[in-house]
Amino acid sequence: LVSKLPDVGTSIFTVMTQLAQECGAINLAQGFPDYDPPQALTEALARHAQTNGHQQYAPMPGLLRLRELISEKTAQHYHVPAPDPVTEITVTSGATEALYAVLAAVVRPGDEVIVLEPAYDLYGPAIRLQGGIPVYVSLRAPTFRPDWNEVAAALSPSTRLIMLNSPHNPTGAVLTPADLAQLAELLRPTPTLVLSDEVYEHMVYDGQQHHSVLQQPELAERAFVLSSFGKTYHATGWKVGYCIAPPALTAELRRIHQFLTFSVSTPTQHALADVLGDATHYQTLPAFYQHKRDLFADLMRSTGFDLLPTPGAYFQVARYDRLSSADDYTFAQRLTREAGVAVVPVSAFYHHTQNQGLVRFCFAKREETLLSAAERLQRFG
Ligand code: PMP
Ligand code: GLN
Repeated sequence: LVSKLPDVGTSIFTVMTQLAQECGAINLAQGFPDYDPPQALTEALARHAQTNGHQQYAPMPGLLRLRELISEKTAQHYHVPAPDPVTEITVTSGATEALYAVLAAVVRPGDEVIVLEPAYDLYGPAIRLQGGIPVYVSLRAPTFRPDWNEVAAALSPSTRLIMLNSPHNPTGAVLTPADLAQLAELLRPTPTLVLSDEVYEHMVYDGQQHHSVLQQPELAERAFVLSSFGKTYHATGWKVGYCIAPPALTAELRRIHQFLTFSVSTPTQHALADVLGDATHYQTLPAFYQHKRDLFADLMRSTGFDLLPTPGAYFQVARYDRLSSADDYTFAQRLTREAGVAVVPVSAFYHHTQNQGLVRFCFAKREETLLSAAERLQRFG
């Protein structure tokens, strides 16, 4: 069989998690919490798992009750007109399915898709599987903020879509209203669509806010905006996310979604609907994660790592040039084996894995996990 993605290996998250398990290392590589979802949510799932009538296919676009609550939450949280649950909201199998379905819905062979790099590992391969051409624009250390002149230079008559990710994985960079306004101006004369991956929407720190593409009306009318209950509810294994998009775009997304997964696990959607109305959980997430970020940064001061700023998401990127001159893949493996702490090499987020000299730590971990990891890193150097 001739591979459709001959240059793509196993995802770095799988590779590093497997190595962590083999070495008994603390896994700060793959992004997932080592604590459980709110008890109200797991109890709700247990209840719905035993409820007659909640065990069969959910409606293709998602449970209406859940979509109505997503609509209310979005309107209240972002002070935007409520998206129509019937025509503008689709529940998906994680943001992953939404990303793939949007790309399958809009990218035709030869279409260009602008990707700001570093980028989440599925973007490039998923674009290429549609026959699309990823056009990469660099985000540069230490802040990884987009240079909109470079984005303007990358736009062409073939640009079908631009992909945004704020707060950003792996760097934590956050887009500002000025960024969104500049992008709106750039796209005004074009038919280019926007895919905005906002899975870390509730993880922005230091009193700053997440600025959703939904709050920029000119962008919102041409955008697919994605979120993930996995991130917001410490439940990455539940694989439930959603996409908000204007009716015409949603209709195209659903053409794909109906044949990709058809619908998402029914009891899980009921459980999420039971808790989504209570805003307290996600309103307390910024303080919850900022505490972890700051604790981890404090602990890391007595190691040889130099931390980059982390305004959002739950990842900490660090330089290690005071510890080693190895490339970041080699160093990540060494750190896992020798220090007992698994990390992700940042070059895994680039289409050509040239060494970035950076590694990514996930700090969505219990305090005791962060303390043990830091102790191991302090011993390492
Ligand atoms: N986009 C980004 C930027 C992510 O970090 C993740 C989580 N790994 C996803 C999408 C996928 O989200 P989900 O787990 O809901 O499929
Ligand atoms: N999004 C998570 C990360 O960046 C991992 C997702 C995955 O394992 N596919 O670490």
